[in-house]
Amino acid sequence: MHSKPARPRMVVIGAGFGGSCAVQALAKLPIDVVLINRSNDHLFQLLLYQVAAAELSGVDIAVPIRSILASYPNAKLLLGEVDGIDTKARFVSVGAIGVLAYHQLIIACGAVLSWCGNDQWAAHAVGLKTLQDPATMRQRLLGAFKCAESRRDAWEVKRLLAFIGVGGGLNGVELAGAISELTRYSRPQEYRGIRPEEARIVVHLFRVIGLCDRILAYIQWVSAWLFHARGACPNDSELNGLLQAQ
Ligand SMILES: Cc1cc2nc3c(=O)[nH]c(=O)nc-3n(C[C@H](O)[C@H](O)[C@H](O)COP(=O)(O)OP(=O)(O)OC[C@H]3O[C@@H](n4cnc5c(N)ncnc54)[C@H](O)[C@@H]3O)c2cc1C
Repeated sequence: MHSKPARPRMVVIGAGFGGSCAVQALAKLPIDVVLINRSNDHLFQLLLYQVAAAELSGVDIAVPIRSILASYPNAKLLLGEVDGIDTKARFVSVGAIGVLAYHQLIIACGAVLSWCGNDQWAAHAVGLKTLQDPATMRQRLLGAFKCAESRRDAWEVKRLLAFIGVGGGLNGVELAGAISELTRYSRPQEYRGIRPEEARIVVHLFRVIGLCDRILAYIQWVSAWLFHARGACPNDSELNGLLQAQ
């Protein structure tokens, strides 16, 4: 593992968009490329929301990295988690696998999910970053329908059918739209004891620094129109209460 490679060796950490594009760009060079990723999936994160809304399954948006690399003979995959880099000695350490020497290194590890300073939400809410996240989200959505069907108390049914999305960017809005479609078109026939189409979906918009009030008001208006998020969106402390009540 530690022996010096015969040809120049380029190590690429991360097989997301960045890492995969790098491997493609290096395909014709007389070098060896080692792509290190912690799983064998190249995840198309853009469609995670459709998996959450039961429109797609996880396998539809996860491509095996080995099949991508099949077109690039100078590249191979090393499955593992990089937990250290020695830039002086030029090697990376990959957990129990050991160390791997490199001539050049590309780091394309992506980003981690951020709760925007509200880490306490993690205990109650699901993010949308890994392949597991939309599966959990879908389970909770459909679980809420199932629970609501068995309840007699109208307020309790209303509570179970209220979904709150935090973050009104592209992703939050797409997800809210997909949940809205799920409740209105896909599930009414399956949950006849309730009216899933009456579910309320509230998109909470973060006040983005630099976003002027007019634009914010416009986004709020569009969200309200699309997703029946009536009235003002909850503020941060109301949101904490709502999330804890879930
Ligand atoms: C829900 C969602 C929706 C999005 N929608 C859009 C959109 O509509 N349009 C758009 O342009 N962008 C969108 N994005 C952003 C886009 O997906 C990212 O910008 C893009 O995936 C970043 O690519 P990347 O290669 O930098 O990182 P990633 O695609 O995250 O890939 C990083 C890879 O590195 C691996 N890795 C990380 N650390 C290690 C380690 N220590 N050892 C080994 N492997 C490691 C990870 O497992 C992963 O495979 C969306 C993102 C999300 C989460």
